[in-house]
Amino acid sequence: MASETSDLEASAPGAMSDGATGAGADGAGVAADWRAGTAEVWKPLKQPGNLTQRIVLAIEELVDTRQIGAGERLPAERELARLLGVSRPALREGLKILEARGRLAVRHGKGVFVRMSGEEAMRAGLAHVRANLAELFAMREALEEPAAAWAAASATPADVARLAEALAAEEEARRPPVDFERLGALDAGFHMLIVELAKNRFLRQTLDVLQDMLDAGMETTLTIPGRIDQARADHRAIFEAIEKGDAAGARQAVRKHVRGARDAALARVGHGLEDLGNPEGPAGAQREVPGASD
Ligand SMILES: [Zn+2]
Repeated sequence: MASETSDLEASAPGAMSDGATGAGADGAGVAADWRAGTAEVWKPLKQPGNLTQRIVLAIEELVDTRQIGAGERLPAERELARLLGVSRPALREGLKILEARGRLAVRHGKGVFVRMSGEEAMRAGLAHVRANLAELFAMREALEEPAAAWAAASATPADVARLAEALAAEEEARRPPVDFERLGALDAGFHMLIVELAKNRFLRQTLDVLQDMLDAGMETTLTIPGRIDQARADHRAIFEAIEKGDAAGARQAVRKHVRGARDAALARVGHGLEDLGNPEGPAGAQREVPGASD
């Protein structure tokens, strides 16, 4: 059984060895690890022809018809050989071909997985980003609406002067050529200042959280066409409501602003999804990172 130490095993120790050599940490335990209930999709290969080719075709068909899904782990080698009714060397050869074709991925010490296509991976990633963005903006609303109302209710002339200063700094940063990083930081600073001016110590303790939400390691939504002017008008409306001591107006202005930023950010992610249907590929989705500061 020289095949027990084939090239594939040597290049991915543990990944597919399941105990015969005594080297696999995965051992026989892996067999119990793959998705329960998939045993019925694996059937012995009885048709004539080159065995390796039949193994390749059978596994490809299971992947193409989604009977085993992207990202899913295949049964351990010994178990899979048993389910398919083939020898382990032939199976190993077939898996090697599927790996070379990019259909399967051998992960060191973890097993053999069905690869996602580039499109599937992108789609999954964008769906995740959308969900994160929606939660992020919902939290900003929950935090910033009462902050604006409280800031309006308790604003002193000194508070209003600080806000006016923040607005003026933003105004200056909007002059072309716009440094979006700087403008994004000033925009975030305006929002943080409002939370500070709410004069609620517990709310104030969420400043770091708000900063994290505004950063979120992402590009500002202000780079989206039209967004810079909208944000400018929104900030002015928020400022004027706080200046007048209009709590309800301040709350409303903040809601409009945060929702506008949210819609712009989600639309941008949506464009990333549309780009997937574009033969030139999802370049836009990769280039434009969604953002939350606005
Ligand atoms: Zn803003």
